Formats: sequence, structure tokens, C-alpha cells
Amino acid sequence: MSKFKEIYTGWKNLTTGGNEESSKLAEERMKICGRCIHTSEKVYLHCGVCGCYIPAKVRSPESECPLNFWMIIPAREENPGSKL
Ligand code: SF4
Repeated sequence: MSKFKEIYTGWKNLTTGGNEESSKLAEERMKICGRCIHTSEKVYLHCGVCGCYIPAKVRSPESECPLNFWMIIPAREENPGSKL
């Protein structure tokens, strides 16, 4: 998936609410980002590694954590980056 499509999907799901599965995945990812030392609230809530707006990034199922911290989330079809 192209970066543009990842960003588009994340913002679309953020503004429309997405479906139940993407919402659950976003919730799990937000828990991890919420405990991550790279989360920054300077200017906007973003990942200090990739610069992405976290509330949108976590809602793009194809997106991955640049440090693979999301890998602990159990594998589901909508989380292809997970290995568990
Ligand atoms: S995407 Fe990964 S590195 Fe960035 S804030 Fe979230 S857990 Fe941390």
C-alpha cells in the first residue's frame, strides 16, 4: 500500500469512525503509543519517529509502527504487520 493510501485510510477512518475491526485495532495501538517514549504532544499528537498524527496513523490497518512496537498485537486480518 502506498504511503498516500495509508494516510488517506487513516484519516478517512478517523473522520468516519471506520468499522468495528479497525476501531478495535486502533484502540490496541493507541494503548501502545500511549506508553511509548516517542509519543509527543508538541504542537500535535504525533509519533516522534515518523512524525505521523497518531490518531490517524493507528486507524490505518496497513500502517506499521516504525519501531515495530505494534507487533505484540495479536494477528488479525486487518493487522498484517503483526507476527503473533
Ligand atoms: S508508532 Fe511506534 S514508535 Fe511511534 S509513538 Fe507509536 S509505538 Fe511509539
